[in-house]
Amino acid sequence: MSKIIVLMGAPGAGKGTQARLLQERLHLPQISTGDIFRALKNAQTPLAQEVREIMERGQLVPDELTIRLVKERTAQDDCNNGYILDGFPRTPAQAASLEKLATEQGNQIVAVLIDVPLEMLEQRMTGRRNCPVCGEIYNMYFKPPKNDNVCDFHPEAQLVHRADDNVETVKARLATYEEQTRPLVEYYKSANLLRTVDGTGEPEAIYKNIERVVAEQ
Ligand code: AMP
Repeated sequence: MSKIIVLMGAPGAGKGTQARLLQERLHLPQISTGDIFRALKNAQTPLAQEVREIMERGQLVPDELTIRLVKERTAQDDCNNGYILDGFPRTPAQAASLEKLATEQGNQIVAVLIDVPLEMLEQRMTGRRNCPVCGEIYNMYFKPPKNDNVCDFHPEAQLVHRADDNVETVKARLATYEEQTRPLVEYYKSANLLRTVDGTGEPEAIYKNIERVVAEQ
């Protein structure tokens, strides 16, 4: 049975970093709903405008659209042997739709919670920077690039600070997480589908733990 690896955790917990490592090493596609919406919001359409405003407020894009995009993406051939979800599901309705999808696709869900104390998350998010070419994730406090504000692998590229990683939106995103997404942790725990890893150490050490708990399932 193929696996759907669901990375759970608050914004800033390191889901994106770990999803990239899993993709590279397990050769499974990584599907980040945040990345999908960031690509979508730049179009000049009323829908894009709506998504942009929701993201700026640190709120969630409506379930109907989110679920439709995930269904479309996971129906593609590269998902036949399983896939990694980063940032989905975030609401009970999304979790229910994923369960249905997993049954239809004959896949098994493995949810992994990357556990990071709330007080560490704000700094992680406001310090975060990305390479616009390869997507490599840096942090000005914890993992700075070798040279000032440029990617180690693409020195021609200035790193990008996400529009929603400012202090105000970060606070709203953390509140949204507590309200709408945290209950899913309990949901997966009671269904015995959840494994928890400590998300406070080095990315490599965290990765090793994730790889182990996924293999055990
Ligand atoms: P992320 O990169 O996962 O932190 O997502 C960035 C933003 O995209 C979130 O703050 C939401 O506005 C939106 N978003 C990402 N994933 C979802 C989802 N599963 N449901 C609703 N909104 C989402």
